[in-house]
Amino acid sequence: MAKANGDRVVQNLRQLAELGKYKTGVHRPSLSPQHVQSLQWLKAELDALGHETVIDGIGNVYGFSRAKGRKILAGSHLESQNYAGWLDGPLGVVYALEAARAIKADPAFADHGVDVGSWCDEEGHFGFFLGSRSACGELSESDLDNGVDRTTGTRLRDALSEAGLAGRPRVAIDPRQYAGYLEAHIEQGDWLEANDLKIGVVTSIVGIRQFRITFQGVQNHAGTTRMAIRKDAGLALAHLAVEIDKHFPAIAGERTVWTTGRITLDPGAHSIIPGAAETLFQIRDADTAVLDRLEQAVRGMAADADARGPCRIEVELIRKSIPAVMAAPFQTAMEAATEAHAPGRHVRMPSGAGHDAQVFANHMPAAMLFVPSIGGISHHWSENTSDADIALGARVFTDAVARLLRG
Ligand SMILES: [Zn+2]
Repeated sequence: MAKANGDRVVQNLRQLAELGKYKTGVHRPSLSPQHVQSLQWLKAELDALGHETVIDGIGNVYGFSRAKGRKILAGSHLESQNYAGWLDGPLGVVYALEAARAIKADPAFADHGVDVGSWCDEEGHFGFFLGSRSACGELSESDLDNGVDRTTGTRLRDALSEAGLAGRPRVAIDPRQYAGYLEAHIEQGDWLEANDLKIGVVTSIVGIRQFRITFQGVQNHAGTTRMAIRKDAGLALAHLAVEIDKHFPAIAGERTVWTTGRITLDPGAHSIIPGAAETLFQIRDADTAVLDRLEQAVRGMAADADARGPCRIEVELIRKSIPAVMAAPFQTAMEAATEAHAPGRHVRMPSGAGHDAQVFANHMPAAMLFVPSIGGISHHWSENTSDADIALGARVFTDAVARLLRG
């Protein structure tokens, strides 16, 4: 029976955490020298396993098993958010690597294989899911032309060149080769920990609606302009944000989340009534019907406020991703695997965060497994998971892969 080595998984993760180490986390932005080192580390491990390997023209690492029979594709990402955690991404990559090792080592799976991928820039330094979209043939050359690092302003083409990857061909997978795609990840929330559970079986990855809401008023003197005649765009924004927050609980889904992520006032100075204001408002849910309903509500509230005055309000949808449903037989396999290693300690749950699996889900059956995050903390250098939970998750993941390879 193919079996993961939990100690080796923890050890590999600690090796990766040395690359760009920052406090107890890492700073490993996409295509930075430390990120490139992590890609080379993975390639070397896959070489040692006897996989056919390549780092391609978008910075994806591939390790293709030489087995001729049924295959699973598994992976995640190796870059981090800026000054962030050591497990967000690498956990899924190392689980995939360990599953590939365990399957390779088991004579019962001589014809079967696990192909391993590290998908560049899941964290969106240069764009959205560049690596996984490239792997699925969804990324155009003009997408590469347009990529700019949101922190440094470096062009994607220049970063690829600096990383020694410019001009390399990009590799696309053939989804028909695979039984499906599997990705493990830290939960990044506190649901598992709070309920003393060990494995989250992801049912779907939420869809996102990102809006830009703009308010047009009249800029004027804060001392001489009577309250009755003001057209304060900042105040109009605040009113609408509060109204949405009051109204949403009655019409939202059980796990809907909404966020006023940024507010800007123009000119944003003391002694000046803001003449214009803008907010970035976002809604996430796993159900398209809920997202539609909430979008309609936002547009309705904004239209009413616009009609009432005194400010003009415009709602613009600037990004929309659809919820990705995870494959039912894969969820069953992960539950069965958890029952074998930690009976009763699993739960089905949606993913509130986006992951590469949502890209692959458009092309083949896909599924995700979560392990607990201590205190639910992620996208921060203090992000952590206990060694025992990391090891257990690796055993469950490999077991699930084995079950799916047996078909
Ligand atoms: Zn991640």
